[in-house]
Amino acid sequence: MSRPTPDPDRNAQDTEAGFDIQPDFERFHQRDEVFRRSWWDARIRSPKSELFYATHREPLKSWRPTDGFTQKDYALRNAAWHVSDLFTDLKQDADRREGFNDEFTLTRGVAAERMDLGTPVETAAEIKRVAKGFGADLVGITDYDERWMYAKKFSDLTLVDRPQEIPAEVTNVIVTAQSMDYDLIRTVPSALSGAATGAGYSRDAMVVLSIAQYIQNLGYQAVASMNDTSLAIPFAIKAGLGEYGRHGLLITKEFGPRVRLGKIYTDLPLAHDQPIRFGVKEFCDVCRRCSAGCPVQAIPDGVPSTVRYNQSNIKGVRKWSVDGEKCFGYWAAQNSDCSICIRVCPYNKDFSKWWLRVGRWLAGTRLRRLMLWLDMRLGYGERMDPKRWWSARA
Ligand code: SF4
Ligand code: SF4
Repeated sequence: MSRPTPDPDRNAQDTEAGFDIQPDFERFHQRDEVFRRSWWDARIRSPKSELFYATHREPLKSWRPTDGFTQKDYALRNAAWHVSDLFTDLKQDADRREGFNDEFTLTRGVAAERMDLGTPVETAAEIKRVAKGFGADLVGITDYDERWMYAKKFSDLTLVDRPQEIPAEVTNVIVTAQSMDYDLIRTVPSALSGAATGAGYSRDAMVVLSIAQYIQNLGYQAVASMNDTSLAIPFAIKAGLGEYGRHGLLITKEFGPRVRLGKIYTDLPLAHDQPIRFGVKEFCDVCRRCSAGCPVQAIPDGVPSTVRYNQSNIKGVRKWSVDGEKCFGYWAAQNSDCSICIRVCPYNKDFSKWWLRVGRWLAGTRLRRLMLWLDMRLGYGERMDPKRWWSARA
């Protein structure tokens, strides 16, 4: 069975999702993604970038005395990454780094007998229940849209291009989001804060693999994926998980930009979710906290544009685009990932508190400038001393 042709009403869907696609649009190539480039492109690859990766797997030769970058901070960061790293390392002999270069193949296969779960609406409701049971914080469903799939894949290990391997039967994409720890992110910049990122990916791996195996057990195709194979944010927006922010990240209603995304490509018949709007675009129009806070000025402070700083920006989409070369350069220089733009974003809050949910609603109204002023006045987004994180009582 071949994949159906794209929905003829795609333009209307793009408008609803807030996508501004230009006539010169080209699908993105995985080899141009900045982390992939750090393996082959001399403009990105450096002793610092190699040390950046190495310290995720092995101890530093000497520890920095700086608070947030001590042996204990790296110990926690690397432990948080451990489960995700195990999956990524498992198939390197077969030239695969699953979860980051390649989709997961660590499932038992599709059952011979196919079960009918009811209507696509009923099936979608059930899949969401199952996904949340496996630990997904957010779940949305959308159609498979080839434009967001990498034109070609690329191996970090052998530095060769590879074709996509997603089965032709796939018609839907289930998108999951795992929240990252609020207090750990408050300690950015620090190696300690990287524990939030690592734990997000480790949980993500377990969630997407479990969902994919469940669907395969029902007799349908299902491929689990994290940062590999496609651009996750357009799928997440179409699946109704959130809006696009100036810092180039998804902003969810529940956790703001503090999420890691996963995908499951499947042919299970599923009803689709719709994009949501809660005022992010309009808020970003007046807010500059991420662009002002970025230590290397990688985030634009103007209006959305089609500018490409380098090949790590997709061609033919008008949007706020981040300079990935500058961003990754900072990560390598400080020897851990940076989430300053997440920390300072006014949508990065603990929305379990009712007054913060009221504030989020007001940020979507004409009071957005007042809310932005209040946010800064009340000290949200300021860095927490890593020592304070370690000494906080459970
Ligand atoms: S992660 Fe850090 S360096 Fe990269 S864009 Fe955000 S603030 Fe800038
Ligand atoms: S910090 Fe402000 S401008 Fe940047 S993404 Fe968040 S809300 Fe938008």
